Amino acid sequence: MKAHDGMYIDGAWRPAVGTETIAVVNPADEQVIGRVPAGTAEDVDAAVRAARAAFPGWKATPPAERAAVLSALHEELGRRTEEIAETVTAELGAPPRFALAVHASMPVLVAGSYAELAASHPFEETIGNSTVLLEPVGVVGAITPWNYPLHQVVAKVAPALAAGCTVVLKPAEDTPLTARLFAEAVDAAGVPAGVFNLVTGLGTVAGQALAAHEDVDLVSFTGSTAVGRRIGATAGGAVKRVALELGGKSANVILPSADLAKAVTVGVANVMANSGQTCSAWTRMLVHKDRYEEAVELATAAAATYVPGERVGPLVNARQRERVRGYIEQGIAEGARLVAGGPEAPLATGYYVSPTVLADVTPEMTVAQEEIFGPVVSILKYEDTDDALAIANGTVYGLAGAVWAGDDAEAVAFARRMDTGQVDINGGRFNIRAPFGGYKQSGVGRELGPHGLGEYLQTKSLQF
Ligand code: NAD
Repeated sequence: MKAHDGMYIDGAWRPAVGTETIAVVNPADEQVIGRVPAGTAEDVDAAVRAARAAFPGWKATPPAERAAVLSALHEELGRRTEEIAETVTAELGAPPRFALAVHASMPVLVAGSYAELAASHPFEETIGNSTVLLEPVGVVGAITPWNYPLHQVVAKVAPALAAGCTVVLKPAEDTPLTARLFAEAVDAAGVPAGVFNLVTGLGTVAGQALAAHEDVDLVSFTGSTAVGRRIGATAGGAVKRVALELGGKSANVILPSADLAKAVTVGVANVMANSGQTCSAWTRMLVHKDRYEEAVELATAAAATYVPGERVGPLVNARQRERVRGYIEQGIAEGARLVAGGPEAPLATGYYVSPTVLADVTPEMTVAQEEIFGPVVSILKYEDTDDALAIANGTVYGLAGAVWAGDDAEAVAFARRMDTGQVDINGGRFNIRAPFGGYKQSGVGRELGPHGLGEYLQTKSLQF
């Protein structure tokens, strides 16, 4: 058996209990590039037992020593960026430049931020006559999606380890090879046995077993709202903690005073990145009625620069491609005007969807309400600022968003009224230390930075 053919449990690669495997497919050419074991409840149980056994020792490890281990992990990931980028390109289809710049590099930065936070975070505070100890929650079950295969893993595992928790990871079935690379980096970094464990497998089998395991103290899930709701219900029934990062339908609000060309071009780029498979993508573009047609023309021109197979990759699998095409057809059927792209396959091979722009979208249409998770921008028209706000807040989601205006103060005044967890002001950059998470049905809890660390801590008050 090759070192990485099995599951990573208790500090070693070991064979799965069962013999079933999951094929990993390159979505750009539809070829099988590898196989991973389809873990069962027994594999999950072995991993949870290893994590439980490792917990007291890791909890007792001084934060400075945990920080040193995370620093080593940060370095190991940094050493592997080329290999990570190639693997993400192979199993997700991300164009090589994007894979290196975002998929490989961002998680390295996040791991580094938690190496720093583990060393600097105050794990104790004083309130009057009390000393409040911030202690690790325990064993974490982490269930991650395929859209940012390494980032989603690091955004859970790094803060959990910094807090003193131990982890069992069940990565998405479409992108398990990147998760294996992560486990190799964990091993090389000298993370003690059992502190991090990897079980590959189907969501309905291994994922469900992990979410329901009675010895898991916190389930941290990122993925679809349907599965998140079930995991939340299971966790609630067992009175265990849960963090959910679910979908989005974020609004890109372009106020009349904005630089329209910039706001539209950056807005289209935001959706096309990762072929639209980003939970925080600004998939609804809101434009004032007086500048609407100009914005539609700009968006059409911008979309044409995203050539499938070059600047924009395929979707992760055939099911997602069919889902996205179905949404485009539904949008047209409900009265949207197709101004770029469309449901037809742009290439003969690979799960590609044409970069698509739908104009004349109205707030009640399906394409204005549901997460499409593909390269599709819906452009909506608003009458005035209050109308724009009602449209922006008028979905069940509230993950991210953008506001563009002639000056930041005007944009901030609007952003304060938005029901959403993150807003980029006039093209503000992504901040890996800012809390990331949803209002409303976009989720429960926050990831990244000190707020993300806080999810993995519980308090104990000592009175003097
Ligand atoms: P999903 O929710 O089915 O999968 C996410 C993770 O949950 C995977 O690891 C999967 O194996 C696991 N899982 C699935 N069923 C489970 C269960 N019953 N119990 C425990 N774990 C389970 O997502 P998907 O089917 O891959 O994608 C469908 C849609 O979800 C997308 O089109 C998109 O709208 C949304 N999505 C959102 C995000 C996000 O970042 N918020 C990421 C991926 C997908």
